[in-house]
Amino acid sequence: MTEIAALEALKAECLQCQACPLAKTRTKVVFDDGNPNAPLVIIGEGPGENEDRTGVPFVGRAGKLLDRVLLENALSRRWVYICNTVKCRACDISEGRARNRAPLPAEMAACRPYLERQLALIRPVVILCLGGPAASTIIHKDFRMTQERGRWFTDSPFAPWVMASWHPAYVLRQGGEAYARTRAELVADIDQCRKKVIEIRQQGGLLARQVAQAEPVEESEPGLF
Ligand code: SF4
Repeated sequence: MTEIAALEALKAECLQCQACPLAKTRTKVVFDDGNPNAPLVIIGEGPGENEDRTGVPFVGRAGKLLDRVLLENALSRRWVYICNTVKCRACDISEGRARNRAPLPAEMAACRPYLERQLALIRPVVILCLGGPAASTIIHKDFRMTQERGRWFTDSPFAPWVMASWHPAYVLRQGGEAYARTRAELVADIDQCRKKVIEIRQQGGLLARQVAQAEPVEESEPGLF
């Protein structure tokens, strides 16, 4: 079985998952989006209302901001692979209304094997974690965004180069100068990731071959690694 076929099989398995209580309140499992051959994988926290409805990660306001900051780096979803640490929406339901909440540790633990298997099949060269929960899952459990954002971590079992940045939803919650600053930092961090892929390609060797295999896409697509 090819890795792409194995990823499809994993997705099919995940879509049926009942391993934690989030299965009871979800509408759709949100497994992935983008290019599974991409050298850069972006990992968020978990689905919100729009993602739960559509089954696609990062499609609400935060998703639109992510698309914009990717475009400002001459990238699109065709050049990256996008997934979340938790595949089903975490919410509390009261009086018929669902309100988003952070996934509980037990829910994150139940879902972690899907993310690990996903990354083992994708074999990213660079991972960008968006937000503290993704960074705590992928980089180290005591990750502190204010101190460690924008730094490279090179001891991850999931990819040779790993970084974390602000989650677009966090950026959108900021006002005034804080919004401008965090947005600019998110753009700069994506730029670092893009440049790292280019640097690896230029160095040659095994990782460069992995990056080269990942060349997407249509000629008309904007942007380039
Ligand atoms: S959040 Fe993960 S572990 Fe829980 S039901 Fe959804 S896919 Fe399964």
